[in-house]
Amino acid sequence: MEEREYLKRYAIELQARKEAGLYREITVFCSAQEKQVRIEDKKYHMFASNSYLDLCNDPKIKEYVSEILQVYGYGSGGSRLTTGTTKIHQELENIIAEWKGREAALVYNTGYMANVGILSALAKAGDVIYSDALNHASIIDGCRLSKAETVVYAHNDMKDLERKIKQHPKRSGIIVSDGVFSMDGDIVDLPGMLELSRKYQLLTILDEAHATGVIGETGKGTEEYYHREGEVDLIMGTLSKAVGSEGGYVCGSKLLIEYLKNTSRSFIFSTALSPITMAASIAGIRKIQKEPKRVRALQENIRYFRELLQSYGMDVHTETAIFPIMAYTEEKAVEWMKELKEAGYYVPAIRYPTVEKKKARLRIALMATHQKEELYGLAQQLATKCREKEGKV
Ligand SMILES: *Cc1c(COP(=O)(O)O)cnc(C)c1O
Repeated sequence: MEEREYLKRYAIELQARKEAGLYREITVFCSAQEKQVRIEDKKYHMFASNSYLDLCNDPKIKEYVSEILQVYGYGSGGSRLTTGTTKIHQELENIIAEWKGREAALVYNTGYMANVGILSALAKAGDVIYSDALNHASIIDGCRLSKAETVVYAHNDMKDLERKIKQHPKRSGIIVSDGVFSMDGDIVDLPGMLELSRKYQLLTILDEAHATGVIGETGKGTEEYYHREGEVDLIMGTLSKAVGSEGGYVCGSKLLIEYLKNTSRSFIFSTALSPITMAASIAGIRKIQKEPKRVRALQENIRYFRELLQSYGMDVHTETAIFPIMAYTEEKAVEWMKELKEAGYYVPAIRYPTVEKKKARLRIALMATHQKEELYGLAQQLATKCREKEGKV
């Protein structure tokens, strides 16, 4: 075959990634997404899933989804504004709006598409989007796709945010932040953010992907956690994490939701999700509402695991289901991941570009159904690794 010179640069870049410990490969699971999973013939304790409430394979939800499957089939056949909206789609949007205490809601195909579509529609040329330095990639891409100027403020630093707002006097704009930050597991300073939004008349958007089903007394998220319900202009989130299904959503005033319906390109130009995916989301949310003990079990696991790690002298203080265990170097993170896998724990190493270079870490995600013995077993493993790293053995 003739040489294809123009392909060489991709091979060179991949090789460089391999050498830097940054090469990514897909893990194939041979079981449902639950707290016990199978990879080939081996079983693992799952400590990596976003399915915080363990709702991806729930028998009751499957029953409901099967009923909807029999009636509506599995394909939606069109985009939401043409032929793709069924009564199931409409019902889900009503349920989300009611759950989050808003006038209206809109479901996108993914949370990624929601962020990209919301920011590119609402932020205009001449506007400023103030975005936290650790916001999710989908927010970053939404900023890039909008015609507004993006100003990144230091992570969760309201003093820096105010300084930057003052540098752009009289400009209209948006403050956007994760509610719970996806790689560090910490919670946004919502009171601070709301105060600045009022003072400078800026629209607020909160990404509740890792907050919904996790924080707040009944798992409603960041607003409930701070007892500031209904104050953020737009709440966006995903149905693919604690809810156990797939899809993204946004909710807020009728005005803003109607505006997005009419202008948000990732909502308009893509085929609607399947009615069965919508049904799984409906049943997942209903379950979270009807069984508060699920959210409480998750919150109890978070408390137990945090206190256990602290008792081993580890520097953790997360109140969410995400526990970053810092390895710093990419090689160390990958080595730890492999060792834990050998011991039967599936825990991912998170590396650049998901986090900064030399800030590689293990990212542990807890589930409501993890037993204390499983948490204890993993904590032992982690404590040993951290002690070794600090040369204390
Ligand atoms: C996962 C995630 C998203 C994207 O949601 P998907 O439904 O997976 O596309 C958006 N924002 C944050 C903070 C996330 O963690």
